[in-house]
Amino acid sequence: MDHFLYRNGVLHAEDVAIPDIAAAVGTPFYAYSAATLTRHYHLFTEALSPLPHMVCFAIKSLSNVAVLKLLGDLGAGMDVVSGGEYRRARAAGVPGERIVFSGVGKTREEMRLALTGGIRQFNVESEPEMRALSEVAVSLGVVAPITVRVNPDVDARTHEKIATGKKENKFGIPIARASEVYAEAARLPGIEVIGIDVHIGSQLTELEPFEQAYLKVADLTRRLRSEGHDIRRLDLGGGLGIPYTRSNEAPPLPTDYGALIKRTVGDLGCEVEIEPGRLISGNAGLLVAGVIYVKNGEGRDFLILDAAMNDLVRPSMYGAHHDIVPVVEAPAASPTHAYDVVGPVCETGDTFAKAREMPLVAEGDLVAFRSAGAYGAVMASEYNTRPLVPEVLVKGDHFAVIRERPSFDEILNRDTIPAWL
Ligand SMILES: *Cc1c(COP(=O)(O)O)cnc(C)c1O
Repeated sequence: MDHFLYRNGVLHAEDVAIPDIAAAVGTPFYAYSAATLTRHYHLFTEALSPLPHMVCFAIKSLSNVAVLKLLGDLGAGMDVVSGGEYRRARAAGVPGERIVFSGVGKTREEMRLALTGGIRQFNVESEPEMRALSEVAVSLGVVAPITVRVNPDVDARTHEKIATGKKENKFGIPIARASEVYAEAARLPGIEVIGIDVHIGSQLTELEPFEQAYLKVADLTRRLRSEGHDIRRLDLGGGLGIPYTRSNEAPPLPTDYGALIKRTVGDLGCEVEIEPGRLISGNAGLLVAGVIYVKNGEGRDFLILDAAMNDLVRPSMYGAHHDIVPVVEAPAASPTHAYDVVGPVCETGDTFAKAREMPLVAEGDLVAFRSAGAYGAVMASEYNTRPLVPEVLVKGDHFAVIRERPSFDEILNRDTIPAWL
């Protein structure tokens, strides 16, 4: 459920009419609903209670500092995958003790940043990383708390670009080698082993792959304990999928996911962490765009929007579907039309939808992409020198721009012409 509903035929974000935001900010823009973000965070905390737990929001799905502040103030932890994201979490006021650091390529500089600024744990993904982390920690006179990310070799049955738990993926260490790796970790002077980490992919629409992975983690917990390791925290990753169409999809609910966690690892006496991104942020955001032209092609009509693949890359990168709806609701029983919905960028990949049946729209109308909160603004670029799309946060009848659209001067001033040219 989200808080983007029609009222008197006009799409609203909570109590704010989308055309009012468009008039103030211009199009395209992202709009996020504070109530939806809050609700989704609470779904997870409720689903995991009464287990000792922390819900660490995967910042990479939506990283605006205002959004992080909102979630951080509710008590959320944060899952970061770069020094930049670590800085965002801290700028949002989240203390280091609530930040976990994931990712296969942490640099020594990023390790130093987190060790000096405060960190809950590093989710280590390889032996070379573990050795580097130990060296950095020793040089700072501290000990780094870690989990090791294990690769359970399960098929997440999701898009190949976002599956991470098969043995051919670059993530984690093979679960079969865990004993060896944990034994080395225990010998390293700058490392303290506290748990196990697993994350098998994103946009999972079934619970079964989670079940397979978590049962393997439960077995591994018992085995590592019998080998003398104090396994007290399990980071179970993120990845729960969301419905991208209103109609036929019904991905598992956080309550069912929580029940699964309790069933598979709940009796181990561990603190449980999860790292949801998309399920918290996905349906909490819209991308709103204006119609520049309706162009009649041969056998097809193009809806040319002022938003493009650089603003929302998911359709061209993953073949992803987003519902696209008119901001002013078409009267019931009015005719629909099949449009190829495209942006102005100069490549054919800049296509949001083909032959999409939608109500008739005209030049100057506004349309909204639903479920655009996750992996939307964060993946935007300035390809074709199109300014980064601004972000707006709505709460009740308030809205505020939480990232401005850059001016062309700002964009051009980032480039410098060498004196010798
Ligand atoms: C991407 C990622 C997540 C979040 O995945 P969602 O599908 O957005 O829930 C969590 N943990 C790690 C390590 C990730 O790489």
